[in-house]
Amino acid sequence: MSIGEIIYSYLPAKRKQTPSGWIKFNAVCCHHNGTTPDTRQRGGMIQNGDGVSYHCFNCGYKASWQPGRHLTRKMRHLLQWLGAPDDVITKLSLEALKIESDTQALEAVSLPKFEDKSLPEGSLQIKEWLEHLERLPVDLRAQFDTVVEYVWSRNLDPLENFYWSPVSGFADRVIIPFKYEGRIVGHTARKIREGKPKYISEQTPGYVFNLDKQTVDKNFVIVVEGPVDALSIDAVAILGAEIMDKQALLINRLNRPVIVVPDRDTDGARTVEQAIKNGYGVSMPDWPEGVKDVNDAVRKLGKLYTLYKIIAEHETSDLKIQLRAKKWFKEN
Ligand SMILES: [Zn+2]
Repeated sequence: MSIGEIIYSYLPAKRKQTPSGWIKFNAVCCHHNGTTPDTRQRGGMIQNGDGVSYHCFNCGYKASWQPGRHLTRKMRHLLQWLGAPDDVITKLSLEALKIESDTQALEAVSLPKFEDKSLPEGSLQIKEWLEHLERLPVDLRAQFDTVVEYVWSRNLDPLENFYWSPVSGFADRVIIPFKYEGRIVGHTARKIREGKPKYISEQTPGYVFNLDKQTVDKNFVIVVEGPVDALSIDAVAILGAEIMDKQALLINRLNRPVIVVPDRDTDGARTVEQAIKNGYGVSMPDWPEGVKDVNDAVRKLGKLYTLYKIIAEHETSDLKIQLRAKKWFKEN
């Protein structure tokens, strides 16, 4: 039996199940917390993936367990109050610890490693170039100016972390470094006008762009495809339409609800399928006329309102996501 099943086996015999999956029974916590005992079946247990959650709607006591976590003191108390013998509780605690350390070991083994990489030859930060412009021949100087204007036009600050190189093949590109834990582990050089290839990149598979910006104060992780969209709203980018398993691992480690904003093209439809597979929310906002992507939206609506729309219009149910996707990709 799994830990969840064993916890369930100690629930009182007198109980009922609600349509939403709660098992309701007289709460066992209340008088331990100085509240009148429950007689109206206000205690509830629900399965939560492979884990379980208990919630008392009488005294407010909560306890939960998820695979990969240890058995909390509150969960151990709850088991005691449900009448589970001490040796069973001890065994469950040990089993939970074992799963926890296995999970950590597995993560440590499978987390992708990103080695330091150098940027294209001749690369300097745009802000460094500003001090050395007299070194550039007139034609390259013009190219540099166009790149700076491009960055501005995308509502991004050229003095932030953008690079440029006068070397042939790169002069009409803005170079965006890929950082991981403060180190440069790759880059992409985006062409600033029409023409192919749009991106010249060097990256390790499994890399997720802009993870370093996902500070703990953020309530969601927003996932987009491209780096310019990601920089516009402090999202992370998967740098393609596919969410690779190693990328999902890095995203999941942030331990926050995930909202994927797909590109509005055929590849984007594939991203939606992968978001569903990973249990992520998906946002396909009703953008105003002419807005094709997140960066367009920021330029038209501003960063805060764009973020607001992404969060307010996100769906978490598979069915709703699929229905919305059908409409959203067709309308485009
Ligand atoms: Zn209670």
